[in-house]
Formats: sequence, structure tokens, C-alpha cells
Amino acid sequence: MEVKKLKNTACSIIEKNKYEIINLTKELFKHPETGYKEYITSKIIKNKLEKLGFEVEDKIAITGVKTSIGNNKKPHIAVLGELDAIINKDHPNANKDGIVHACGHNNQLAILFGIALALKKANIMKILSGTVDFIATPAEEYIELDYRKKLKRENKIQFFGGKQELIKRGYFDEVDLALMAHSYDIGEMKDVIAGPKGNGFIVKEIKFIGKNAYTGSSSEEGMNALDAAILVVNNINAQRDSFLAQDNVRVHPIIKKAEEVVNTVPNDVRLATYIRANSLDSILEVNKKVNRVLQAASIAIGAEIEIKDYPGYLPLLNYESLVELFIKNSKQIINKNRIIKNMMFSGSFDIGDLSHIMPVLHPFFGGVKGEIHTSDFKTVDYELAVIKPIKVLVKTIIDILSGQEILKNISKPYYSKDEYIKILNKINSN
Ligand SMILES: [Zn+2]
Ligand SMILES: [Zn+2]
Repeated sequence: MEVKKLKNTACSIIEKNKYEIINLTKELFKHPETGYKEYITSKIIKNKLEKLGFEVEDKIAITGVKTSIGNNKKPHIAVLGELDAIINKDHPNANKDGIVHACGHNNQLAILFGIALALKKANIMKILSGTVDFIATPAEEYIELDYRKKLKRENKIQFFGGKQELIKRGYFDEVDLALMAHSYDIGEMKDVIAGPKGNGFIVKEIKFIGKNAYTGSSSEEGMNALDAAILVVNNINAQRDSFLAQDNVRVHPIIKKAEEVVNTVPNDVRLATYIRANSLDSILEVNKKVNRVLQAASIAIGAEIEIKDYPGYLPLLNYESLVELFIKNSKQIINKNRIIKNMMFSGSFDIGDLSHIMPVLHPFFGGVKGEIHTSDFKTVDYELAVIKPIKVLVKTIIDILSGQEILKNISKPYYSKDEYIKILNKINSN
């Protein structure tokens, strides 16, 4: 059967089942859960996939599910959907704990389900050769670090991000490329951003240990940890001219804890900051400068310093020929004037990590209103936010599986899995 006919069959199946798919995203919206706690969400997805006849593995990284279709041959594609929600107590749909799907991950899961449904019901894998995994991934949002530190101490996870953890656990060892779609408010004039790039980041937690003293009579006996923290903030500001504009650097320290008693010299002051930039090299370069600033403040005041770095996410990279293929298929579903090819996004995603070890496709689709994570965020057009992404991604998958030379034309990723894990562990040990 020719590729075009296969694509048409798949799209008519998606059309026929679209209300079931849209109902799923609405159902998931009612059960928001945060990272590594997505038990109900995982169960809903597992049940839906099992009803389609899939055998589903669950608890792949505490939560999360995985299933597969195909003949275990190459090319091996992973279709991803993120399970977790975010915390925003002001959102009108937040639950009692303030948790809400204000990043549209419920739409991603419905997209994953819709693709699985289309490939299964159209019997596509009987005609084409290759393998498609469907992986609902936990913990994309970088939040609730105390909970994740606890999981790490208990050896239940090694990394805070769900995809990082799944890479380590080997779930991407056989995969050649991964794709998904994220909801994003692109405005009235556009529907799709085909190749967004994103910043990466590392997290720093800093503790200055000074010496208490009574400020009324003997402040000279104290050692002021707050003064050290203030030097840090000022000296980071003094570095800003040295940051290259094209690296998109963001360093934004906060004071997390200081003294509570006004007549005591502060002796325990804690800071935290992200270091964001659009390449790992520039993140590490800026981190060196910030470490220099921290040591200088410690020496200037004489306060002891403890620095802890945690890997955030790596920058999201683009694979040009994969983006081109996606655009070609998008044009069959979406008006070509409403597609943006590339865009720099200063936020971060854990698929950025994956993009350093394999080609990934992470387009944004509209159909939502309001900035992600804010109380305004909502899905307003399910056709654009869920159904059209399924059609475009299914067409893209059919192209890749139909033996075109697409994989060969995609540029090679930056690192092997082992090199990647070493990088994360190096950041962790700082
Ligand atoms: Zn988010
Ligand atoms: Zn998101």
C-alpha cells in the first residue's frame, strides 16, 4: 500500500475516534498530579492502551507506562507524553493542593493515545517495518525538589527529571529518535512552532555559615553571613557584561533563608540560583564565574561556604531534517502561513536532555490560551491542541517507517548515553 493511502487511512481513523481522544484529555485534566506521583494518570493511560489491545508495562520510573507496536526492527521511534502537572494555587481549576494541568501535559497524553490508536487500528505495522514505543514519562516539571531529594536518598531515583531517569534506566537504549508535541499559546496568527530551541540550566544551592553575636554590644565578635550573600548578589550583577548575548544567559539568585532576629548577626544564610544558557558549554562557563564570586564572598567575610549543584535540564536542540519532514506533513493539515519554523525559547524541558543523545522532535501546537504555568492557561481549541498534532505526527511516523532515508540525513547527537550520564554525575558531584 502506498504511503499516501496509509496516511489517509490513519487520518480517517483519528477523525472517527476524535471525541474519545478529546474526552481523554478532559478526563486527565480532572486528575492533576505532580512529578513521580502520577499514579492515577498512569493508571488512566494504562487502561486506555490496554483497551486498544496493548500490553502495558507500568511503574517504569516510580510512575510512568510504556508499550510498543511493531516488529522489533529499526527504525525505532519513541512517542512521548508527559504525565505531570504543575502547582499554581491561583489557577481556577487547581485542586485542593494547588495542582493543575497548566502546562497542557494532559493534551500530550491524549496525543500519545491518539497516535497509538491510529497505528493500531490502521494495522500500519503489518505493512511497514520498524518499532514504535509509547512512553508516558513522569516528572518533567522541575519542582518539589525536597521530595525528589528524598527519593534520591532512598535510592528510588538517581535524577530529578523523568526523562533523565528513564535514559539512565535504559528505556531509550534501542530508540533511534523521539517525538512529542507540547501545547503553547502562539497567538491568534500562528498555529505551530516547528523547531523551538530551549535554554538549559543547572541549579545551585549555597549556604554561608558565619558566627552569631549580639549586635547591641558585640557585633565585632560575629561574622555576618548575610553580608557574604549580599556580596554574591552584587558580584553576579558585576559579571553580567561578560555574558555573551547569543548564549542567552540568565542568572537570577534569591536569598532563601536569612536571620529572623533583628539584633543578632546572621550566621546561616542560604541562597539559590539557576544558571541558564543555550549550550552546555556556556552553562558550565558561567557556573565557573559564579563559583568564583561565591568563593570571593566567602574569603571577603571569612564565612564558611557550602555549594551544592544539581543538574537541571540540558538545552533543547533542533534536528533540521526532522523539522523539515515535520513541516512537510504539517502543511497537509495546517495552513503554511500559520507555521513558524524556528524560535528561541528561554524556558527548559527535560526532552532537552534526550536531544543530546538522539534526534528529537518537540513542536509547539496552539489551541491553548495564556502563558504556560500561569493562572490564565487553558485549552480552548481541542482540534488544534490535540487532533491536528496526532495527524501530523502519525504522517511523520509513517514517513520514517516507510524506509525513506530520513534517519541517515539527520545529524548525529552530541553524546553517547554513557557520556551524558557522566556529565550529569559531574554536575551532581560539584
Ligand atoms: Zn511546564
Ligand atoms: Zn510542559
